[in-house]
This record gives sequence, C-alpha cells and structure tokens, in this order.
Amino acid sequence: MRRNAVVVGYWKTIKYSVHALLGAAEEHELHKDIDFYLVSVDDLLRTVNELRTKYSRIMYMQTLLTTDLLSKHEKLAEINRKLRDLGIVSVAGGPHATGDPFGTVISLGFEYAFLGDVEDLLPQVVELGLNYRDPSSVVGVFYVDDSGKFVFRGRGFTKELDKYPPFSPKLNLFSPIEITRGCRYSCSFCQVSYIHTAITRHRSIENITFWCKYLLSRGIRDLRFITPDALSYEDPRTNRDFIELLSELSKLRTAGGKVYFGTFPSEMRPEKINQEVSRFLRTHVDNKRVNIGAQTGSDELLKKIKRGHTSEDVLNALEALSSVGLSAEVDYIIGLPDETLEDQQLTIEHMRKVISKGGRIRIHYFIPLPGTPYALRNPSEISTQFRRELMRLVGSGKARGNWLNQENAVRELLRLRDEGVILLTSDRARNVLSGSLRKA
Ligand code: SF4
Repeated sequence: MRRNAVVVGYWKTIKYSVHALLGAAEEHELHKDIDFYLVSVDDLLRTVNELRTKYSRIMYMQTLLTTDLLSKHEKLAEINRKLRDLGIVSVAGGPHATGDPFGTVISLGFEYAFLGDVEDLLPQVVELGLNYRDPSSVVGVFYVDDSGKFVFRGRGFTKELDKYPPFSPKLNLFSPIEITRGCRYSCSFCQVSYIHTAITRHRSIENITFWCKYLLSRGIRDLRFITPDALSYEDPRTNRDFIELLSELSKLRTAGGKVYFGTFPSEMRPEKINQEVSRFLRTHVDNKRVNIGAQTGSDELLKKIKRGHTSEDVLNALEALSSVGLSAEVDYIIGLPDETLEDQQLTIEHMRKVISKGGRIRIHYFIPLPGTPYALRNPSEISTQFRRELMRLVGSGKARGNWLNQENAVRELLRLRDEGVILLTSDRARNVLSGSLRKA
C-alpha cells in the first residue's frame, strides 16, 4: 500500500496553474513518495473514497479563481464538509484564496488557505495537508486556530522562476511558458500585483529557450507565453530585454517553432509600442495581431484606475503597428467603478477611433476581484445609450467579448459577497463566525 496521495481539483480555467504546480512537485521530487490525482469537482469525493483503500494518507489541494465560485461554491463547501468528517485536510491556493482567505476557510470550508506563490513552499504545504506538519510552521498559510483566532503566516514568494519547469513534463501537461511574474503597475481592478506582488521576476532567456526546445521536441510548435506585459520583459540579472529574448526565440522558427508574443494568453501595454518596437515585432513573431489593454477611453478614469498610460497612447500604438502591417485587439473594461456617462461616451468614441485604425475591440465587464483595491466596489451602471452603441459595434463584427455573461456573473458574485461566501475582511469573517452576517 502506497502511503500518500494528493487529490487535485482540475478544470479548464485553472489548468495552467495546476500544470505549473505539478511541475514544481516534480522539481521537489514529490512524485517519489506521493501519487497525484487530477479530478473534476464532480468526481472528487468518489475518487477520495476509492483512494482511501489504497493510501494511508490523502490530502485535497485546490487552485481557485473567484469566478469559479459561481458554479462550484456549494459543491466545494460540501466536499470540504465531508472530507473534514473523514479527517482529510484540504488546502486552497491561487487568486481567490490569496484575495479572500477568510471566505476560503470559513465559507468554503477549506482547512487552510495558501497565500501567494507556492512553488518554494510546496513540500511544506503537502506535509501540512498530509498531517506531517504543524500549520504554525508553514509560511503562507492562513487558518482559524482552535481558539477561533485568525492566523496569518505571511505569504509565499517564488524568487527564481528558473528553478521550476513552467508545466509538468512528467505528466505531459503542457502550458504556455510563464516568462514574467508580478506586475509593477498595480492597476486597481487587477489581481496580478496584489496576488503575485509588484516585484517582477523573469525567467532567464536560457531557461525560456530550453523549455521552448523541449516543447518542440514533443511536437508542440506553437510557442506561447504568460506575462502581465510582454514588452516589460527585462531580466535584471543580465539586463537582457524582450529584444534579446525575441532574437533568441526567433531562431527556433527555423526548427518549426511559431512564436506568439504579446497575444493570448498575455498582452502589451500601449505606451511601450512604437514604430521601432513594431518593426522588430513584425520580423520576429508569427502573430500578426497583438493584444493591448486600453481599459477605457477616458483619461480621467485611466488615472482613477491607476493605469499609468493615456488613451492617446493606445491610438499611437495602433498607428505604429499598422504602419508595419500588424494590428491589435484592444481590451476595454466597462462598468468600472466611478465610470460616468461622459466616460462611457469617451470610451465609445475611443473604440471608434481604434476601429478606424484597424483595431478590433474586446469588451469585458468589471469584476470586483478579491485582493484588489476594488474588491468591495460595485460596477457602475451601463447606460442604455452606451449599451446600444456597444451592441452596434458587436453587431458590425468590429467588437466582441464576453461582457454580457460577465455582467450576469458579477450579479451573482455580488450576491455571494452579500451572503458571505466571499468575505474579504476580518470584520465580515467574524460576523459570519458569530452568525450575524453584515451586508456591504
Ligand atoms: S492590468 Fe496589466 S498592467 Fe495593470 S496590474 Fe494587471 S497585469 Fe499589470
């Protein structure tokens, strides 16, 4: 009988994080003593029950996005209740657990929330989950102790991305390669700087090309990258920037690689795109379109959300790109807190200018994400006129986006916030623990 198993909840929206987690497990050689099982939320309890006859110790590990709560929060709470009865420990990490450790532990019922980056601390977290370790000895965990006190043990911070594979080679679970983690811009609506901090860490060029070659050797030709801002790549250890990175990556094109840079699943900040950069991209990447974050056409609102660029920067970027035959899909967020009717009008005008310069529009709806300064804010109302103009752009084929679904999802998330599934603050958490939930 094997001693230990880790059951990992696994579904589409979190798959890249799970692949990276398993890559870190390989690096720590945890597979020697532990079997990892990836299961859907629906199969989780059944799998654990089956594994109980084969293993003496089992833990449940989960990466969580806030938006996953919509379809899964009741199921997760039920799983955790049942696992607790069986004496099986559950640990949740990822953006939601980091942003709302109170709700993760108190409402979703995980025994521990893990805050921040887990790679360096993974062996300790697994030992904790398998009951070999005291929680007070594990950096990054949050829990409620026996006396009902909230205990924070700091947060995990992975300094060296190079130490870990970007995915799990052993299990053939591949992902785009994370080349940069953390973001210094700290935009008010975005979790990246608050979950991974504003300290940027870069995978070295040697390490990135090593993993690209590995992917090519496994028959994967499309080389994609995860980064908050593709053009901010600049490794301080070597001062080598995205120009040198792309110069190296572009050599892999002769071996059949296709380099997709500044496009899904990452993007570029507009103020960094100029003629020179565009010309360079034109000859070094395979994508003909990049993704740019504009967020709004209102400069006042850009200041409020702390974006650090202007609406003009977006238009200049599009001109520079189109001068060399490239184009862009431009992301906007509608319903941002404090968005006025005038801001909405400016955004529509801005979208039209972007379209006239060859850009395509992608519309998102504001989601108040835990861990961000806007976690307790509500979306601004979308005026009828604004809604009509947006629908017109979508109807003309110049704009797309999941904003209508997101609008409904946010309504649900606000309900979860009101009902205390999402808790966010210690006051709210105490109220739930004492049975008197207070509304926001
Ligand atoms: S929106 Fe982009 S630039 Fe702003 S904090 Fe997030 S990742 Fe950084």
